Amino acid sequence: MVADKAADSTKEEEAMNILGSTRTVVKTALERLGYPEEVYELLKDSMRMLKVRIPVRMDDGSVKIFTGYRAQHNDAVGPTKGGVRFHPDVTETEVNALAIWMSLKAGIVDLPYGGGKGGIICDPREMSFRELEGLSRGYVRAISQFVGPTKDIPAPDVFTNSQIMAWMMDEYSRIDEFNNPGFITGKPIVLGGSHGRESATAKGVTIVINEAAKKRNLEVKGAKVIVQGFGNAGSFLSKFLHDAGAKVVGISDAYGALYDSEGLDIDYLLDRRDSFGTITNLFDNTITNQELLESDCDILVPAAVENQITKENAHKIQADIVVEAANGPTTMEATEILTERGKLLVPDVLASAGGVTVSYFEWVQNNQGYYWTEEEIDEKLHENMIKAFNTIYDTSQTRQIDMRLAAYMIGVRKMAEASRFRGWI
Ligand code: NAD
Repeated sequence: MVADKAADSTKEEEAMNILGSTRTVVKTALERLGYPEEVYELLKDSMRMLKVRIPVRMDDGSVKIFTGYRAQHNDAVGPTKGGVRFHPDVTETEVNALAIWMSLKAGIVDLPYGGGKGGIICDPREMSFRELEGLSRGYVRAISQFVGPTKDIPAPDVFTNSQIMAWMMDEYSRIDEFNNPGFITGKPIVLGGSHGRESATAKGVTIVINEAAKKRNLEVKGAKVIVQGFGNAGSFLSKFLHDAGAKVVGISDAYGALYDSEGLDIDYLLDRRDSFGTITNLFDNTITNQELLESDCDILVPAAVENQITKENAHKIQADIVVEAANGPTTMEATEILTERGKLLVPDVLASAGGVTVSYFEWVQNNQGYYWTEEEIDEKLHENMIKAFNTIYDTSQTRQIDMRLAAYMIGVRKMAEASRFRGWI
């Protein structure tokens, strides 16, 4: 019990750090853009935050009560949008910070959305298929008044997938009494999912890596890459980079990491990973995640969880380019250290915006009832990501600021303007 309390306070502390650093950059971005203090007061928190308790009948007959959240950061631009994560470390503060990030991402890739986020405190690795279905449906029942295709549109995130989205869409359609695929994105294709959605985040990261490499005169073909995390984002990304001729020398999961300076056999690893992105348990010669981050490579892609590059290890990072596929993997102090060391750091709000971009394409297709091919999706995604990368890179160069601050400036501007035109500020 005492240990649990200590773990909870560490989680809360970490979430407070993430929220605190997000607010600091939002504040600086708004100041640089010349907005008054009240704009920051509006945008520093989610406009709405719902906490729900979800009873689920477990396989052993007992009833377990889970806690979940849904945050809606700012809906001046349009409905809010963002993933739902199933993870033991979910906290209200974390969900709040992640919703702010979603607003920034939507602004960066110019989508007609504000940011939202959801989470349930649970460990899906220890739950059966039936229990997960009960939890997914229970969550939708609990938040159904709060969300909807023109209000707030959920999507997958850590430890949630297209099956979970399908159960959630089915539950919402039952409550709403008609088929409503636009309620949620990241669905299976047969239920109105979009081609390319599952790999969209990774594809967006790959596009951004190509653009970043050009700026550093680095050929992606032959470059040494480390990808932390082998889940949805990390595994597709490793495959895309491997297929593009990069040498993926390191990968990891929650339990450890694999490193081989000659390059790993990504196809072999993909065949053997489980649905939670676990692979290292099949090997003896593993290293730790921290050792992996500090290992030799040209490009480092944290694609797992928050707070991985900190002031403790930032000066040991060997990569020339760091691309944040995960949300919040680098602390503020670490961002400063990496920037001082001349590293090119591509921030999360830009690098991982491919997922929400194709989620937007999925929602558009659901609304119009007419579906695009994978090639059409790819082309639109490339266009959006390349434009966003170059706008942010150029802003960072012209204003002599790091790419994170440049991205936040682009990200908050549309939201601030929409709030102003609506007469909110
Ligand atoms: P996932 O659940 O599919 O995979 C997570 C991976 O990280 C797994 O391999 C897991 O073993 C590993 N992991 C978990 N805890 C870890 C730890 N403490 N240390 C090292 N590895 C750990 O999740 P995902 O969808 O790939 O998301 C990964 C990151 O990318 C998250 O930060 C998420 O918010 C972000 N992201 C994902 C998407 C998407 O569409 N999937 C979109 C935007 C951002």
